[in-house]
Amino acid sequence: MREREYVRSLFGKEDDVLKSIAPGLEERDMPQISVPPEVGKTLYLLAKMSGAKRVLEIGALGGYSTIWLARALPESGKVVSLEISQKHADFAAENVAKAGLKERVTFLVGDAMQSLDTLARKGERFDFFFIDADKPNYINYLEKVIQLSEPGAVITADNLFQHGRIFDDQDQAPSPRTIRQFNEQIANDPRLESMLLTIGDGLGVCRVKEKK
Ligand code: SAM
Repeated sequence: MREREYVRSLFGKEDDVLKSIAPGLEERDMPQISVPPEVGKTLYLLAKMSGAKRVLEIGALGGYSTIWLARALPESGKVVSLEISQKHADFAAENVAKAGLKERVTFLVGDAMQSLDTLARKGERFDFFFIDADKPNYINYLEKVIQLSEPGAVITADNLFQHGRIFDDQDQAPSPRTIRQFNEQIANDPRLESMLLTIGDGLGVCRVKEKK
């Protein structure tokens, strides 16, 4: 698409660490499902503009979005990234270290639903979230994330078009079905103010109201 290439070339510039992640995923036989550069840049800007200090990411893969997010934070800022695969978390940690952001990022390896419960039990709170893991759990993630949010927090979520599958009503597979529900939920949830940006594969952006 002409618009996408144009936007990417002007606004989605990557440094050497970010550029090295796609070939690294290929070498390790890992899926090429990092966010595209223009979504990385959008996440970076949203985190920076909202003054985020504590970011929670669900789904690290090779740490591509983790690096964009960690770079948006002040020196004392923290990213906690939840990842089910030890292999993915190890590669993500390697890339985060290459980017000089090791002190700012912690990876929690395990099923995200369990990690979210652990964080809630510990009374942890975050002011920025990025949901980008298994789609059938998106509604569950949303609920947990709202519980972990500070008032005014920003919640973002990727793949809300499911590469066009959400528009085919005949497609009732778990991922597009849940994502349709998720989109309706963020559009109508009285605790949130939301928008679905037509960037990448659809990026949801929500603000948690002061009174949840
Ligand atoms: N956010 C990454 C980026 O843009 O660079 C891409 C994340 S990729 C789309 C999804 C990741 O979620 C995969 O690494 C996968 O192993 C992880 N994942 C899938 N199910 C999960 C679960 N139940 N708990 C935690 N992580 C999970």
